[in-house]
Amino acid sequence: MISVKEAKSIIRRKIFSLDAEAVQLNNAIDRILLEDIVANFPSPRFNNSAMDGFAVRSSDTIGASKNNTITLKNIGISSAGSPSQLKLNQGECIQCMTGAKIPAGSDAVVMVEHTSGFSDNSTVEIMIETQPDMHIRKKGEEIQKGDILISKGTRITPSEIGICATFGYGQLEVSKKPKIAIFGTGNELVEPGKDIKEGEIYNSNLYVLSDLVAKAGGSVVMKDVLKDNKEHLNLFLSEAMRSCDLVISSGGVSMGRFDYVRDVFLDLGVEEHFWKVAQKPGRPLFFGTGDKTLIFGLPGNPVSSYIGFMVWVWPVLNEMMGSIRIKSFKAELTEPFPSEKIKYRYLFGKAWVEDGKVLCKPSKKIGSHMLTSSLNVNCVLGSEPSDRQLNPGDSIDVNLLPWETMK
Ligand code: AMP
Ligand code: MG
Repeated sequence: MISVKEAKSIIRRKIFSLDAEAVQLNNAIDRILLEDIVANFPSPRFNNSAMDGFAVRSSDTIGASKNNTITLKNIGISSAGSPSQLKLNQGECIQCMTGAKIPAGSDAVVMVEHTSGFSDNSTVEIMIETQPDMHIRKKGEEIQKGDILISKGTRITPSEIGICATFGYGQLEVSKKPKIAIFGTGNELVEPGKDIKEGEIYNSNLYVLSDLVAKAGGSVVMKDVLKDNKEHLNLFLSEAMRSCDLVISSGGVSMGRFDYVRDVFLDLGVEEHFWKVAQKPGRPLFFGTGDKTLIFGLPGNPVSSYIGFMVWVWPVLNEMMGSIRIKSFKAELTEPFPSEKIKYRYLFGKAWVEDGKVLCKPSKKIGSHMLTSSLNVNCVLGSEPSDRQLNPGDSIDVNLLPWETMK
């Protein structure tokens, strides 16, 4: 049995990066960017109007008011997409719409509400005095040409899509999605929706694992529930190791008489790096490598399998895709936490902010077979081995479930 720290450093040495691929912008959501997105032009690109109104020379409007209007000559229109080529001389104005280029010679925009209005008339009454730069969005005021807008390693959300579109990127270099095989094993497993007999249980792990893979940005390309039967396991696994970047199993990797998964991994030439880790839940954790495949054998208990994925597999997927690492943080316990003497202890929990402090508490259900402990939580709490249980007021590591927020 090795420590969590040792196991993590072994895994880190075996992680490989996935290649990049180009995807169209509208297929890029949730992917990991593998290039810096740089502004190829300033934003705004050109001085433009923030309002529908009249582009003027501010000096022509001095003293203008409702009771003392100033008459300007209306010489044309500048609209979004159709900039006016005219140059404004003293005493002239141009009808100028939101987003339209500010015509040469103009230094301010008067809102149409403060004028006699848009028309084809040759003159316009200006009813307000304006200052230089009024209602003008200045070239480069938001972003300079050459600025890095989004860094490599960022997960693409609607904000990133919006920025890439704003700066004209039609396709993006992103990490390929890791191809993943997941399988569960156990003669007792029955699919939800089917009738169940004495001694059987419903397969829940593969449903959880499939969703976790999708949330982490991977794609499940092989999935099956297998009997505790070496031949079936062998068939599935040999194909999975040929075609996948990662294989994740749940169950059949402990000390039971019918736990064949490790034997089959070894029969197929998987190099075993470790099999047992000083952690609870999930001590019988297998990690090995094939020619070009990482292999995780998670134990079958539903909490071990779920927490095992979050602690061991999720960070690996992130790293393979070049994603910026999510850090854990410390919070103060409001309830006792059952630390273990020689094992790292993980439990689902809840973290929240109260009176400026980050507080947390573990789930009340602590058995590794109790999947209800994953309801109404937002994090996995983790404690180093300790001679004593942690008490309210003690600090503990919080790993926020990446799709959750503090609550
Ligand atoms: P094992 O790791 O195969 O010894 O399984 C440990 C426990 O997890 C047993 O009680 C199994 O019935 C249960 N288990 C194994 N696989 C699954 C699964 N896919 N869904 C739900 N429970 C499972
Ligand atoms: Mg089993």
